[in-house]
Amino acid sequence: MAVDATQPYDDQNIFAKILRGEIPNQTVYQDDFALAFHDINPQAPTHVLVIPKGAYVSWDDFSAKASDAEIAGFVRAVGKVARDMGLVAPGYRLLANAGTDSHQEVPHLHVHLFAGKPLGPMLV
Ligand code: C5P
Repeated sequence: MAVDATQPYDDQNIFAKILRGEIPNQTVYQDDFALAFHDINPQAPTHVLVIPKGAYVSWDDFSAKASDAEIAGFVRAVGKVARDMGLVAPGYRLLANAGTDSHQEVPHLHVHLFAGKPLGPMLV
């Protein structure tokens, strides 16, 4: 079910539980600012989610409230995951849903990283 991203952060959301280690995940990478893990329902041969470690609902929430260090750290982590997974040359796609029209399901900011096949034109 899509979430209302205007609501305050809910620390019982599934990615908050993953960050606290209450739910397992297949970690690809982590540092002080970000955790990257394989999506449990992959939509492409490679489908990784990158999430900030702070409590932010969406990209707009994150960009308004996070420190410059958190923002830089998160953006750098997304790029590092793409590089470390060898995706730069074949290419990859990033996507971040926010709010009900986008069908955001988990109210903790996450960037989807899709790769591993020609992805075709983006369909909106
Ligand atoms: O952008 P959106 O909120 O719709 O995407 C949520 C993503 O989180 C889905 O791709 C879903 O498969 C993934 N997910 C996950 N592990 C969970 C719960 C959801 O990878 N435990």
